[in-house]
Amino acid sequence: MPSPGTKRIAILGFDLEANRFAPVCGRPEFEERAYYEGEAISRDARADHPAIHGGICGFYATMDAAGGWTPVPILFTGSTPNGPVDQGFFDEVMDRMRAGLAAAAPLDGVYICEHGAAVSTGSHDPDGDLFAMVRETVGPDVPVIATLDLHTNVSQRMVDATDLLIAYRTNPHVDQFERGAEAAAAMREMFDGMRPTAAFVRLPLVAPSVTLLTAEGQPYGDLIRLGQSRIDADVLNVSITAGFAFSDTPKNGMGILVTTRGDAAKAGALADTLASAGWADRERYRTNMIGLDAAVRLAVETGADAGRPSLLFADVADNPGGGGRGNTTYILKALHAAGAEGVLLGVVTDPPLVEAAFAAGEGKAIDARFNSAETQTFSEPFTAPATVAGLSDGEFVGRHGMVADRTVRLGRSCRLDLGGIQVVVISARQQCLSADFFAHFGLDVAAARGVVVKSRGHFRAGFQHLFPPARIHEVDVPGLTSPNLANFDWRHLPRPVYPLDPDTVWPLAGR
Ligand SMILES: [Zn+2]
Repeated sequence: MPSPGTKRIAILGFDLEANRFAPVCGRPEFEERAYYEGEAISRDARADHPAIHGGICGFYATMDAAGGWTPVPILFTGSTPNGPVDQGFFDEVMDRMRAGLAAAAPLDGVYICEHGAAVSTGSHDPDGDLFAMVRETVGPDVPVIATLDLHTNVSQRMVDATDLLIAYRTNPHVDQFERGAEAAAAMREMFDGMRPTAAFVRLPLVAPSVTLLTAEGQPYGDLIRLGQSRIDADVLNVSITAGFAFSDTPKNGMGILVTTRGDAAKAGALADTLASAGWADRERYRTNMIGLDAAVRLAVETGADAGRPSLLFADVADNPGGGGRGNTTYILKALHAAGAEGVLLGVVTDPPLVEAAFAAGEGKAIDARFNSAETQTFSEPFTAPATVAGLSDGEFVGRHGMVADRTVRLGRSCRLDLGGIQVVVISARQQCLSADFFAHFGLDVAAARGVVVKSRGHFRAGFQHLFPPARIHEVDVPGLTSPNLANFDWRHLPRPVYPLDPDTVWPLAGR
Protein backbone atom coordinates (compact mmCIF):
# COMPACT_ATOMS: atom_id res chain seq x y z
CA MET A 1 0.00 0.00 0.00
CA PRO A 2 1.22 3.50 -0.66
CA SER A 3 2.15 5.36 2.50
CA PRO A 4 -0.42 8.03 3.30
CA GLY A 5 0.57 11.64 2.95
CA THR A 6 0.54 14.07 5.83
CA LYS A 7 -2.96 14.30 7.25
CA ARG A 8 -4.27 17.71 8.20
CA ILE A 9 -6.55 17.34 11.22
CA ALA A 10 -8.55 20.15 12.75
CA ILE A 11 -8.70 20.33 16.56
CA LEU A 12 -11.57 22.07 18.30
CA GLY A 13 -14.04 21.71 21.12
CA PHE A 14 -16.55 23.30 23.44
CA ASP A 15 -16.55 21.96 26.99
CA LEU A 16 -19.54 22.79 29.16
CA GLU A 17 -21.65 20.76 31.54
CA ALA A 18 -24.66 23.02 32.01
CA ASN A 19 -26.83 22.99 35.11
CA ARG A 20 -30.15 24.56 34.16
CA PHE A 21 -30.60 25.84 37.72
CA ALA A 22 -27.25 27.70 37.88
CA PRO A 23 -26.55 31.25 36.61
CA VAL A 24 -25.98 31.88 32.88
CA CYS A 25 -22.29 31.91 31.87
CA GLY A 26 -20.38 33.52 29.02
CA ARG A 27 -16.96 34.70 27.89
CA PRO A 28 -15.53 35.59 31.35
CA GLU A 29 -16.30 32.14 32.76
CA PHE A 30 -14.75 30.42 29.73
CA GLU A 31 -11.70 32.65 29.70
CA GLU A 32 -11.16 31.97 33.39
CA ARG A 33 -11.01 28.23 32.80
CA ALA A 34 -9.89 27.47 29.22
CA TYR A 35 -9.83 29.55 26.06
CA TYR A 36 -7.24 28.51 23.48
CA GLU A 37 -7.00 29.54 19.84
CA GLY A 38 -4.58 28.35 17.17
CA GLU A 39 -1.08 27.27 18.14
CA ALA A 40 -1.77 27.81 21.85
CA ILE A 41 -3.71 24.52 21.69
CA SER A 42 -0.75 22.56 20.32
CA ARG A 43 1.68 24.18 22.77
CA ASP A 44 -0.33 23.28 25.86
CA ALA A 45 -1.29 19.81 24.62
CA ARG A 46 2.40 18.97 24.23
CA ALA A 47 3.56 20.60 27.52
CA ASP A 48 5.06 18.58 30.39
CA HIS A 49 2.27 19.66 32.74
CA PRO A 50 -0.66 20.60 30.51
CA ALA A 51 -3.70 22.52 31.67
CA ILE A 52 -5.77 21.93 28.52
CA HIS A 53 -8.25 19.04 28.38
CA GLY A 54 -6.68 15.59 28.69
CA GLY A 55 -8.55 14.32 25.63
CA ILE A 56 -6.65 16.76 23.42
CA CYS A 57 -3.37 15.71 25.05
CA GLY A 58 -4.14 12.04 24.32
CA PHE A 59 -5.07 12.79 20.72
CA TYR A 60 -1.83 14.73 20.13
CA ALA A 61 0.36 12.14 21.86
CA THR A 62 -1.01 9.31 19.71
CA MET A 63 -0.84 11.23 16.46
CA ASP A 64 2.65 12.53 17.28
CA ALA A 65 3.85 8.99 18.00
CA ALA A 66 2.43 7.71 14.71
CA GLY A 67 3.64 10.70 12.69
CA GLY A 68 2.38 11.80 9.32
CA TRP A 69 -0.01 14.43 10.60
CA THR A 70 -0.24 18.18 10.81
CA PRO A 71 -2.50 19.55 13.53
CA VAL A 72 -4.76 22.40 12.50
CA PRO A 73 -5.65 23.80 15.94
CA ILE A 74 -8.68 26.06 15.72
CA LEU A 75 -10.41 26.80 19.02
CA PHE A 76 -10.95 24.98 22.29
CA THR A 77 -12.81 26.55 25.17
CA GLY A 78 -14.31 25.24 28.37
CA SER A 79 -15.86 26.48 31.59
CA THR A 80 -16.05 24.88 34.98
CA PRO A 81 -19.55 23.33 34.97
CA ASN A 82 -21.94 26.23 35.06
CA GLY A 83 -25.39 27.43 34.07
CA PRO A 84 -26.57 27.64 30.44
CA VAL A 85 -24.14 29.43 28.11
CA ASP A 86 -25.19 32.80 26.74
CA GLN A 87 -26.30 32.25 23.13
CA GLY A 88 -24.40 35.29 21.90
CA PHE A 89 -21.08 33.97 23.20
CA PHE A 90 -21.80 30.47 21.90
CA ASP A 91 -22.60 31.88 18.45
CA GLU A 92 -19.27 33.76 18.47
CA VAL A 93 -17.45 30.52 19.25
CA MET A 94 -19.34 28.75 16.47
CA ASP A 95 -18.53 31.52 13.99
CA ARG A 96 -14.82 31.39 14.80
CA MET A 97 -14.79 27.61 14.49
CA ARG A 98 -16.68 27.69 11.17
CA ALA A 99 -14.34 30.33 9.78
CA GLY A 100 -11.30 28.39 10.98
CA LEU A 101 -12.50 25.16 9.37
CA ALA A 102 -13.35 26.90 6.11
CA ALA A 103 -9.98 28.67 5.97
CA ALA A 104 -8.14 25.40 6.62
CA ALA A 105 -9.88 23.45 3.83
CA PRO A 106 -9.22 20.87 2.55
CA LEU A 107 -8.96 18.92 5.81
CA ASP A 108 -8.43 15.17 6.26
CA GLY A 109 -10.14 14.89 9.63
CA VAL A 110 -11.68 16.76 12.57
CA TYR A 111 -11.23 15.89 16.24
CA ILE A 112 -13.76 17.49 18.59
CA CYS A 113 -13.09 17.49 22.33
CA GLU A 114 -16.54 18.08 23.76
CA HIS A 115 -18.28 17.58 27.07
CA GLY A 116 -21.71 17.01 25.56
CA ALA A 117 -24.01 18.29 28.29
CA ALA A 118 -24.12 21.92 27.20
CA VAL A 119 -27.29 23.98 27.20
CA SER A 120 -27.46 27.50 25.82
CA THR A 121 -29.97 30.25 26.46
CA GLY A 122 -31.33 29.52 22.97
CA SER A 123 -30.90 25.76 22.51
CA HIS A 124 -31.36 22.46 24.32
CA ASP A 125 -28.60 20.96 22.17
CA PRO A 126 -25.66 23.29 21.46
CA ASP A 127 -23.37 20.26 21.16
CA GLY A 128 -25.58 18.92 18.37
CA ASP A 129 -25.61 22.38 16.80
CA LEU A 130 -21.80 22.46 16.87
CA PHE A 131 -21.37 18.95 15.46
CA ALA A 132 -23.86 19.71 12.66
CA MET A 133 -21.97 22.94 11.86
CA VAL A 134 -18.70 21.00 11.60
CA ARG A 135 -20.25 18.37 9.32
CA GLU A 136 -21.85 21.00 7.13
CA THR A 137 -18.56 22.90 6.85
CA VAL A 138 -16.21 20.00 6.07
CA GLY A 139 -18.66 17.89 4.06
CA PRO A 140 -19.84 14.29 4.32
CA ASP A 141 -16.56 12.48 3.57
CA VAL A 142 -14.13 13.95 6.12
CA PRO A 143 -13.83 11.83 9.29
CA VAL A 144 -15.30 13.68 12.29
CA ILE A 145 -14.65 12.05 15.66
CA ALA A 146 -15.59 13.47 19.05
CA THR A 147 -14.81 12.48 22.61
CA LEU A 148 -17.45 13.08 25.25
CA ASP A 149 -17.79 13.10 29.01
CA LEU A 150 -19.90 10.21 30.26
CA HIS A 151 -22.22 12.83 31.76
CA THR A 152 -23.13 13.90 28.24
CA ASN A 153 -26.74 14.00 27.10
CA VAL A 154 -26.44 12.52 23.62
CA SER A 155 -28.85 13.59 20.88
CA GLN A 156 -29.53 11.75 17.64
CA ARG A 157 -28.25 14.91 15.94
CA MET A 158 -24.85 14.47 17.61
CA VAL A 159 -24.73 10.86 16.41
CA ASP A 160 -25.82 11.68 12.87
CA ALA A 161 -23.33 14.54 12.37
CA THR A 162 -20.24 12.54 13.41
CA ASP A 163 -18.54 9.28 12.41
CA LEU A 164 -17.73 8.22 15.95
CA LEU A 165 -18.54 9.38 19.48
CA ILE A 166 -16.28 8.09 22.27
CA ALA A 167 -17.34 8.64 25.89
CA TYR A 168 -15.19 8.22 29.00
CA ARG A 169 -15.55 4.90 30.76
CA THR A 170 -14.40 5.96 34.23
CA ASN A 171 -16.00 8.04 36.96
CA PRO A 172 -13.94 9.77 38.39
CA HIS A 173 -12.81 10.56 34.85
CA VAL A 174 -9.24 9.30 34.85
CA ASP A 175 -9.35 8.10 31.22
CA GLN A 176 -9.67 11.39 29.33
CA PHE A 177 -6.19 10.99 27.84
CA GLU A 178 -6.91 7.39 26.79
CA ARG A 179 -10.17 8.35 25.07
CA GLY A 180 -8.38 11.07 23.10
CA ALA A 181 -5.82 8.42 22.12
CA GLU A 182 -8.66 6.10 21.08
CA ALA A 183 -10.09 8.86 18.88
CA ALA A 184 -6.73 9.25 17.16
CA ALA A 185 -6.39 5.50 16.58
CA ALA A 186 -9.91 5.28 15.13
CA MET A 187 -9.24 8.22 12.84
CA ARG A 188 -6.13 6.49 11.52
CA GLU A 189 -8.26 3.41 10.80
CA MET A 190 -10.65 5.64 8.89
CA PHE A 191 -7.75 7.01 6.85
CA ASP A 192 -7.16 3.37 5.82
CA GLY A 193 -10.75 2.99 4.69
CA MET A 194 -12.70 1.85 7.77
CA ARG A 195 -16.24 3.31 7.91
CA PRO A 196 -18.00 3.27 11.32
CA THR A 197 -21.73 2.59 11.77
CA ALA A 198 -23.49 3.57 14.99
CA ALA A 199 -26.66 2.48 16.80
CA PHE A 200 -28.06 4.63 19.57
CA VAL A 201 -30.71 3.80 22.18
CA ARG A 202 -31.81 6.16 24.95
CA LEU A 203 -33.29 4.85 28.17
CA PRO A 204 -35.76 6.85 30.29
CA LEU A 205 -33.28 6.65 33.17
CA VAL A 206 -31.96 9.87 34.74
CA ALA A 207 -30.05 8.86 37.84
CA PRO A 208 -28.47 11.16 40.45
CA SER A 209 -24.77 11.67 39.71
CA VAL A 210 -23.63 10.18 43.03
CA THR A 211 -25.04 6.81 41.91
CA LEU A 212 -22.97 6.79 38.72
CA LEU A 213 -19.55 5.68 39.92
CA THR A 214 -17.72 3.05 37.89
CA ALA A 215 -15.91 1.15 40.65
CA GLU A 216 -16.48 -2.60 41.14
CA GLY A 217 -19.94 -3.35 42.49
CA GLN A 218 -21.51 -0.16 41.13
CA PRO A 219 -24.39 -0.62 38.67
CA TYR A 220 -23.09 1.89 36.15
CA GLY A 221 -19.59 0.41 36.25
CA ASP A 222 -21.04 -3.07 35.78
CA LEU A 223 -22.94 -1.95 32.69
CA ILE A 224 -19.86 -0.27 31.21
CA ARG A 225 -17.83 -3.42 31.82
CA LEU A 226 -20.52 -5.53 30.17
CA GLY A 227 -20.27 -3.29 27.13
CA GLN A 228 -16.48 -3.54 27.05
CA SER A 229 -16.68 -7.33 27.20
CA ARG A 230 -18.35 -7.20 23.78
CA ILE A 231 -15.57 -5.34 22.00
CA ASP A 232 -14.28 -7.50 19.14
CA ALA A 233 -13.05 -7.25 15.55
CA ASP A 234 -16.41 -5.78 14.48
CA VAL A 235 -17.30 -3.65 17.50
CA LEU A 236 -15.19 -0.48 17.44
CA ASN A 237 -16.57 1.29 20.50
CA VAL A 238 -19.26 0.97 23.17
CA SER A 239 -20.11 4.21 24.96
CA ILE A 240 -22.67 4.21 27.75
CA THR A 241 -23.48 7.75 28.74
CA ALA A 242 -25.24 8.25 32.05
CA GLY A 243 -26.04 11.86 31.23
CA PHE A 244 -26.28 14.92 33.43
CA ALA A 245 -29.67 15.29 35.09
CA PHE A 246 -29.36 19.00 35.86
CA SER A 247 -29.16 19.96 32.18
CA ASP A 248 -32.93 19.32 32.21
CA THR A 249 -33.32 18.77 28.46
CA PRO A 250 -35.59 16.62 26.29
CA LYS A 251 -32.49 14.58 25.33
CA ASN A 252 -31.73 13.55 28.93
CA GLY A 253 -31.54 9.83 29.64
CA MET A 254 -28.90 7.12 29.73
CA GLY A 255 -27.51 6.60 26.23
CA ILE A 256 -26.30 3.31 24.79
CA LEU A 257 -24.11 3.96 21.77
CA VAL A 258 -22.55 1.08 19.87
CA THR A 259 -20.28 1.74 16.89
CA THR A 260 -19.13 -1.09 14.64
CA ARG A 261 -16.78 -1.27 11.71
CA GLY A 262 -19.61 -1.06 9.22
CA ASP A 263 -21.94 -3.75 10.63
CA ALA A 264 -25.24 -1.95 11.28
CA ALA A 265 -27.17 -5.07 12.31
CA LYS A 266 -24.59 -6.02 14.91
CA ALA A 267 -24.49 -2.46 16.29
CA GLY A 268 -28.27 -2.41 16.64
CA ALA A 269 -28.50 -5.82 18.30
CA LEU A 270 -25.77 -5.06 20.82
CA ALA A 271 -27.25 -1.66 21.66
CA ASP A 272 -30.59 -3.34 22.38
CA THR A 273 -28.95 -6.01 24.53
CA LEU A 274 -27.06 -3.46 26.62
CA ALA A 275 -30.08 -1.18 26.95
CA SER A 276 -32.16 -4.09 28.26
CA ALA A 277 -29.43 -4.99 30.75
CA GLY A 278 -29.20 -1.39 31.96
CA TRP A 279 -32.94 -1.05 32.34
CA ALA A 280 -33.26 -4.35 34.24
CA ASP A 281 -30.71 -3.02 36.75
CA ARG A 282 -32.30 0.41 37.29
CA GLU A 283 -33.28 -0.09 40.94
CA ARG A 284 -29.63 -0.24 41.97
CA TYR A 285 -29.10 3.47 41.19
CA ARG A 286 -29.78 4.56 44.77
CA THR A 287 -28.28 7.37 46.82
CA ASN A 288 -26.69 6.64 50.19
CA MET A 289 -26.29 9.97 51.97
CA ILE A 290 -26.16 10.88 55.65
CA GLY A 291 -27.87 13.90 57.22
CA LEU A 292 -26.00 16.98 58.41
CA ASP A 293 -26.54 16.19 62.12
CA ALA A 294 -25.12 12.72 61.69
CA ALA A 295 -22.15 14.07 59.75
CA VAL A 296 -21.35 16.65 62.43
CA ARG A 297 -21.67 14.04 65.17
CA LEU A 298 -19.24 11.74 63.34
CA ALA A 299 -16.79 14.58 62.77
CA VAL A 300 -16.85 15.64 66.42
CA GLU A 301 -16.60 12.08 67.76
CA THR A 302 -13.61 11.49 65.50
CA GLY A 303 -12.07 14.63 66.89
CA ALA A 304 -12.68 13.60 70.50
CA ASP A 305 -10.80 10.34 70.10
CA ALA A 306 -7.85 10.41 67.74
CA GLY A 307 -7.83 6.61 67.76
CA ARG A 308 -10.82 6.66 65.43
CA PRO A 309 -10.00 6.62 61.75
CA SER A 310 -10.29 9.96 59.99
CA LEU A 311 -13.32 10.55 57.80
CA LEU A 312 -14.02 12.38 54.57
CA PHE A 313 -17.31 14.20 54.05
CA ALA A 314 -18.40 15.13 50.54
CA ASP A 315 -20.57 18.21 50.10
CA VAL A 316 -22.17 16.63 47.01
CA ALA A 317 -24.95 19.22 46.82
CA ASP A 318 -22.54 22.11 46.25
CA ASN A 319 -20.29 20.53 43.64
CA PRO A 320 -18.68 23.16 41.38
CA GLY A 321 -18.10 20.23 39.03
CA GLY A 322 -21.85 20.16 38.45
CA GLY A 323 -22.62 23.88 38.46
CA GLY A 324 -22.60 24.45 42.23
CA ARG A 325 -21.13 27.81 43.25
CA GLY A 326 -18.71 26.21 45.72
CA ASN A 327 -19.73 28.54 48.52
CA THR A 328 -22.58 27.12 50.58
CA THR A 329 -21.94 27.21 54.32
CA TYR A 330 -24.32 24.60 55.76
CA ILE A 331 -21.57 22.14 56.72
CA LEU A 332 -19.02 24.79 57.74
CA LYS A 333 -21.51 26.57 59.99
CA ALA A 334 -22.63 23.34 61.69
CA LEU A 335 -19.09 22.05 62.26
CA HIS A 336 -18.02 25.44 63.63
CA ALA A 337 -20.99 25.58 66.01
CA ALA A 338 -20.24 22.07 67.23
CA GLY A 339 -16.59 22.92 67.93
CA ALA A 340 -15.16 20.31 65.57
CA GLU A 341 -11.37 19.97 65.74
CA GLY A 342 -8.75 18.99 63.22
CA VAL A 343 -11.00 19.50 60.20
CA LEU A 344 -9.91 20.67 56.73
CA LEU A 345 -12.59 22.14 54.47
CA GLY A 346 -12.31 23.18 50.85
CA VAL A 347 -12.32 24.48 48.38
CA VAL A 348 -14.65 27.41 48.96
CA THR A 349 -15.05 29.92 46.12
CA ASP A 350 -15.25 33.47 47.45
CA PRO A 351 -13.09 36.09 45.68
CA PRO A 352 -14.04 38.99 48.02
CA LEU A 353 -13.01 36.93 51.04
CA VAL A 354 -9.69 36.08 49.39
CA GLU A 355 -9.08 39.76 48.69
CA ALA A 356 -9.88 40.61 52.32
CA ALA A 357 -7.29 38.06 53.41
CA PHE A 358 -4.68 39.52 51.03
CA ALA A 359 -5.49 43.03 52.28
CA ALA A 360 -4.97 41.96 55.89
CA GLY A 361 -1.82 39.94 55.24
CA GLU A 362 -0.49 36.60 56.41
CA GLY A 363 -0.69 35.97 60.15
CA LYS A 364 -3.32 38.66 60.68
CA ALA A 365 -6.68 38.18 62.41
CA ILE A 366 -9.81 38.99 60.40
CA ASP A 367 -13.54 38.54 60.59
CA ALA A 368 -13.95 36.02 57.77
CA ARG A 369 -17.16 37.03 56.03
CA PHE A 370 -18.26 34.22 53.72
CA ASN A 371 -20.64 35.13 50.87
CA SER A 372 -20.60 38.84 51.72
CA ALA A 373 -21.29 39.64 48.05
CA GLU A 374 -23.48 36.66 47.12
CA THR A 375 -27.13 36.69 46.13
CA GLN A 376 -27.47 33.11 44.85
CA THR A 377 -29.93 30.73 46.43
CA PHE A 378 -28.14 28.50 48.96
CA SER A 379 -25.15 30.89 49.22
CA GLU A 380 -25.93 32.11 52.73
CA PRO A 381 -23.55 34.43 54.60
CA PHE A 382 -21.51 33.22 57.55
CA THR A 383 -18.99 35.17 59.59
CA ALA A 384 -16.35 33.80 61.95
CA PRO A 385 -13.12 35.11 63.49
CA ALA A 386 -10.14 33.70 61.63
CA THR A 387 -6.40 34.01 61.11
CA VAL A 388 -4.97 34.38 57.62
CA ALA A 389 -2.73 31.29 57.64
CA GLY A 390 -1.55 31.39 54.05
CA LEU A 391 -1.76 33.33 50.78
CA SER A 392 -1.09 31.96 47.30
CA ASP A 393 -1.43 32.66 43.59
CA GLY A 394 -3.15 29.26 43.52
CA GLU A 395 -1.04 27.63 40.81
CA PHE A 396 0.59 24.22 41.27
CA VAL A 397 1.15 20.87 39.58
CA GLY A 398 -1.07 18.14 41.00
CA ARG A 399 0.11 14.72 42.15
CA HIS A 400 -3.07 12.72 42.65
CA GLY A 401 -6.20 11.65 40.78
CA MET A 402 -7.50 13.70 37.88
CA VAL A 403 -4.89 16.45 38.34
CA ALA A 404 -1.82 14.16 38.50
CA ASP A 405 1.00 15.84 36.54
CA ARG A 406 -1.38 18.56 35.42
CA THR A 407 -1.28 22.29 36.08
CA VAL A 408 -4.01 23.48 38.45
CA ARG A 409 -5.03 27.14 38.65
CA LEU A 410 -7.21 28.16 41.61
CA GLY A 411 -6.71 31.90 41.15
CA ARG A 412 -5.66 34.01 44.14
CA SER A 413 -6.32 31.87 47.17
CA CYS A 414 -5.89 31.75 50.91
CA ARG A 415 -5.97 29.44 53.89
CA LEU A 416 -8.04 30.62 56.82
CA ASP A 417 -7.59 29.21 60.32
CA LEU A 418 -10.96 29.18 62.09
CA GLY A 419 -9.60 27.37 65.14
CA GLY A 420 -10.66 23.78 64.78
CA ILE A 421 -11.32 24.16 61.06
CA GLN A 422 -8.87 25.12 58.33
CA VAL A 423 -10.62 26.48 55.24
CA VAL A 424 -9.06 26.86 51.78
CA VAL A 425 -10.72 29.73 49.88
CA ILE A 426 -10.15 30.26 46.14
CA SER A 427 -11.12 32.69 43.38
CA ALA A 428 -11.46 30.50 40.25
CA ARG A 429 -14.46 28.30 41.02
CA GLN A 430 -13.78 24.57 40.77
CA GLN A 431 -14.24 21.38 42.73
CA CYS A 432 -11.71 19.93 45.16
CA LEU A 433 -10.14 17.21 43.01
CA SER A 434 -7.38 15.91 45.25
CA ALA A 435 -5.43 16.15 48.49
CA ASP A 436 -3.08 18.48 46.57
CA PHE A 437 -5.67 21.23 46.98
CA PHE A 438 -4.87 21.22 50.72
CA ALA A 439 -1.21 20.25 50.54
CA HIS A 440 -0.48 23.32 48.42
CA PHE A 441 -1.48 25.40 51.46
CA GLY A 442 0.74 23.46 53.85
CA LEU A 443 -2.08 21.31 55.19
CA ASP A 444 -1.43 17.63 55.91
CA VAL A 445 -4.48 15.67 54.85
CA ALA A 446 -3.09 12.44 56.31
CA ALA A 447 -2.96 14.06 59.75
CA ALA A 448 -6.45 15.60 59.63
CA ARG A 449 -9.27 14.03 61.63
CA GLY A 450 -11.90 15.10 59.18
CA VAL A 451 -11.85 16.46 55.64
CA VAL A 452 -14.78 18.16 53.92
CA VAL A 453 -14.63 18.52 50.13
CA LYS A 454 -16.89 20.36 47.75
CA SER A 455 -17.14 17.70 45.06
CA ARG A 456 -19.63 15.07 43.97
CA GLY A 457 -17.30 12.17 43.20
CA HIS A 458 -14.17 13.14 41.26
CA PHE A 459 -12.39 13.77 44.58
CA ARG A 460 -12.37 10.01 45.10
CA ALA A 461 -9.50 9.50 42.65
CA GLY A 462 -7.43 12.18 44.38
CA PHE A 463 -8.02 11.00 47.96
CA GLN A 464 -8.15 7.22 47.51
CA HIS A 465 -4.60 6.82 48.88
CA LEU A 466 -5.89 8.20 52.19
CA PHE A 467 -9.61 7.44 52.29
CA PRO A 468 -11.06 4.06 51.26
CA PRO A 469 -14.74 4.24 50.23
CA ALA A 470 -15.89 2.99 53.67
CA ARG A 471 -14.55 6.19 55.29
CA ILE A 472 -16.29 8.53 52.85
CA HIS A 473 -19.72 9.98 53.63
CA GLU A 474 -21.88 11.94 51.22
CA VAL A 475 -23.77 14.61 53.17
CA ASP A 476 -27.36 15.55 52.41
CA VAL A 477 -27.56 19.36 52.55
CA PRO A 478 -29.32 21.83 50.22
CA GLY A 479 -27.64 22.94 46.99
CA LEU A 480 -27.68 23.33 43.23
CA THR A 481 -26.39 19.78 42.76
CA SER A 482 -28.41 17.96 45.42
CA PRO A 483 -28.82 14.26 44.56
CA ASN A 484 -32.42 14.56 45.78
CA LEU A 485 -33.82 15.07 42.28
CA ALA A 486 -37.34 15.53 43.60
CA ASN A 487 -36.18 18.91 45.03
CA PHE A 488 -35.96 20.48 41.56
CA ASP A 489 -38.52 22.08 39.30
CA TRP A 490 -37.94 20.04 36.12
CA ARG A 491 -39.25 21.69 32.96
CA HIS A 492 -37.76 19.80 30.03
CA LEU A 493 -36.92 16.26 31.09
CA PRO A 494 -38.73 13.63 29.02
CA ARG A 495 -41.43 12.23 31.31
CA PRO A 496 -42.04 9.70 32.58
CA VAL A 497 -38.44 9.09 33.61
CA TYR A 498 -36.99 6.78 36.25
CA PRO A 499 -36.49 7.23 39.23
CA LEU A 500 -38.51 10.49 39.37
CA ASP A 501 -41.46 8.51 37.99
CA PRO A 502 -41.04 5.09 39.60
CA ASP A 503 -43.59 3.38 37.34
CA THR A 504 -41.83 4.34 34.09
CA VAL A 505 -42.21 1.63 31.45
CA TRP A 506 -39.59 0.77 28.80
CA PRO A 507 -39.67 -0.22 26.01
CA LEU A 508 -43.01 1.29 25.11
CA ALA A 509 -45.55 -1.13 23.66
CA GLY A 510 -45.22 -1.51 19.90
CA ARG A 511 -41.55 -0.62 19.81
ZN1 LIG B 1 -18.47 14.08 33.96
